[in-house]
Amino acid sequence: MFVDVAFPISQYQVFTYRIPKQFAEVVSVGVRVRAPIGKRILSGIIVKITKDTSFTGKIRKISEVIDGTPLLDESLWQLMQWISNYYITPLGKAATVIPANLSIKYKPQERWMVQAKQMGKIEEDLEKSAPAQANVLNKLMEHKEPIPITDFNKLVASPLTVCKGLEKKGLVKLFKEASTPITSNFEFDPIHKEIYFSDTQVAAINKIQKYIKEKKYSGMLLHGVTGSGKTEVYIKIAQDILEQGKSIIILLPEIALTPQIAGRFRAVFGDKVGLWHSKLTGAARAFTWTNICSGKYRVVVGARSAIFAPLKNLGLVVVDEEQETSYKQEAPDPRYHARDVALMRGKLQNAAVILVSATPSLESYYNRIMGKLDYCYLPERFNDAAYPIVMVVDMIKEQEETGKIGQILSSSLQQKIEQRLKNKEQIILLQNRRGYAPIYRCRDCGEMIICPTCSIPLTYHRVGENLQCHFCGYLQTKIPQQCSHCNSSNLALSGTGTQKVEDIISDTFPNAKIARLDMDTTRLGKALTNTLTKFKDGKIDILLGTQMIAKGLDFDNVTLVGIINADTGLFLPDFRSGERSFQLIYQASGRSGRRKKQGEVVIQTYNADNPVIRYAARLDLKKYYNIMIGERKELNYPPFNWLAKAEFTGVKKSIVDKTANAIRNSFQKKFKGMEILGPAWCYRERLRGKYRMQIVFKSSKETDPNGRKLHQYLKNNLLNKKIGSAVKINIDIDPVSLL
Ligand code: ADP
Ligand code: ZN
Ligand code: ZN
Repeated sequence: MFVDVAFPISQYQVFTYRIPKQFAEVVSVGVRVRAPIGKRILSGIIVKITKDTSFTGKIRKISEVIDGTPLLDESLWQLMQWISNYYITPLGKAATVIPANLSIKYKPQERWMVQAKQMGKIEEDLEKSAPAQANVLNKLMEHKEPIPITDFNKLVASPLTVCKGLEKKGLVKLFKEASTPITSNFEFDPIHKEIYFSDTQVAAINKIQKYIKEKKYSGMLLHGVTGSGKTEVYIKIAQDILEQGKSIIILLPEIALTPQIAGRFRAVFGDKVGLWHSKLTGAARAFTWTNICSGKYRVVVGARSAIFAPLKNLGLVVVDEEQETSYKQEAPDPRYHARDVALMRGKLQNAAVILVSATPSLESYYNRIMGKLDYCYLPERFNDAAYPIVMVVDMIKEQEETGKIGQILSSSLQQKIEQRLKNKEQIILLQNRRGYAPIYRCRDCGEMIICPTCSIPLTYHRVGENLQCHFCGYLQTKIPQQCSHCNSSNLALSGTGTQKVEDIISDTFPNAKIARLDMDTTRLGKALTNTLTKFKDGKIDILLGTQMIAKGLDFDNVTLVGIINADTGLFLPDFRSGERSFQLIYQASGRSGRRKKQGEVVIQTYNADNPVIRYAARLDLKKYYNIMIGERKELNYPPFNWLAKAEFTGVKKSIVDKTANAIRNSFQKKFKGMEILGPAWCYRERLRGKYRMQIVFKSSKETDPNGRKLHQYLKNNLLNKKIGSAVKINIDIDPVSLL
């Protein structure tokens, strides 16, 4: 018997092996094995089993079978094949979405527990004959519950021996217990709520249930203004599906950032829910995975990769905040988009897929116009909460009027903050840049201090007094006093990050309690949860942060949202930068006035006439989306065209340049409806020591309705080209960013 094995390498080829007798019974398609390839032994996945082989070379043997049963069932296996095809990634690489070194043979660690059999006083005999035992027993009698024997590590030299002695005398109960790994770092305590659905909510629920009943598979967009109860609506649908005995996946863009929602799920789904996210420890990951496989967890809440959770009898997938770009895996391969994989998984397993958003991606918005997605809209906020009043502050005018250049807080925003503080209401301030100042520059020659491997400006951090690269993490603790180019000592910080805003608000409002949330303060999940809990309990007046505070948060007493600089990101050279800025402003505004009190939003901008700012300020999504649709159509961008990007990276600039151009020149004839742009240097030309060039491909959906022509073209022209090892080519299908 022979098997074909796919490895996580960049070749499409599969390799044939002989099966040693002892493995004959356990091998099947989808089982992971380890096998020699060249001089190494790698793990790969069995993709085919045959009696004979036409391969005439030397056939080696499988070294080891990793899992006794296939890691993936038939339909997940199909999904993997779709990913491999669609994202042009070898199957062995596609399968790496299943966490590495995850064993389904996982057994939780066990630990010894001990419990006193009787309370009260110990006998004097014991104190004399066995003082160590007496010591332990004394302590034990302070607890009613069993405790781990490791608690006595400090008290006696060998707690296990001592406890065994006590057990012999019949004084204690000693037993082993499986210790479950901690998976709860990012959860809020369960948040219980009384839910009475409004008429519009009931209508939405009925409509969605109808879709689900009528069709086996249904993809739909649940679009609702911020605070309309979208979360409650899909929780209700999920409960129904759970009652029918089916299972559910709920995807969130970054679960570690959404402890509030996790707490809500905990309350509703109890111990049926497992959380799946990037910060789980190895043991917690294996533990969770085992519980998913065994059917104990029937609801999986997680980030991107949770879409591959091996739940049986899947009934529903929810993709919350479906517009978020973190659903796209940008590296390594496969560069999949979890939303699109969700829709495909739904099709393969006859499950409903609900995309949820207040600001849908333009793709989904357009797909529902074209009838590819069913649609459900929640037009009003729950409980008659009014929409916030939005005010745009033109910072250029402000400059002219006050004569102060580069103000961080306009007088209007300052006044409104004062007023809220007086009323004991809370404030959220958004500044979508972390650090203190993003640029450190020579005032005489303009030279900037840049990352030695990324060639982008280093950000100054006042906390820790250092310069950091926000791409590769490079840290420079010595802050230069002189320009390396002209030796001038006239160096200055420019631009504004969250730390600087924090300084300024603390100076302006010395009595206010302020907290900052950004990547720097939330590296440890607990810090995030703590800050949000404090804010909820009213122990913080002003919450300041990056985009991570713009979405999903739901606080009763927030009546003012200030956007310190709405222009951040607006002019990045990417066709989606307008869409992103609009969504960010709209979402952030949605945090204000979610209950009885009228909310307000202040948007500070130097581009008050820009359509993104204008329509975001009116909260007029439809108008702005229509403008975007027009622009995308004119410029042949998605959703009207397929888009793909080939990225060439290498250490030597000239070689990257030469290779990219040579490949470009070798392309065969374009087909009708296709456009090729580039090669051009990427906007961030050098990252992590590597130069980057890109070629962008567009293919009209009119002439290439399912993108097959484009895929074929990329395969023929880019794959298996001999280019040497100095340059790497990555193909990105449906890239979310062209930067
Ligand atoms: P969205 O996801 O649309 O922003 P949420 O589902 O978070 O909105 O709802 C906003 C707030 O209103 C939440 O605190 C939610 O619990 C509450 N809410 C929404 N619908 C109901 C309901 N039918 N009964 C009680 N509370 C509700
Ligand atoms: Zn200089
Ligand atoms: Zn760097």
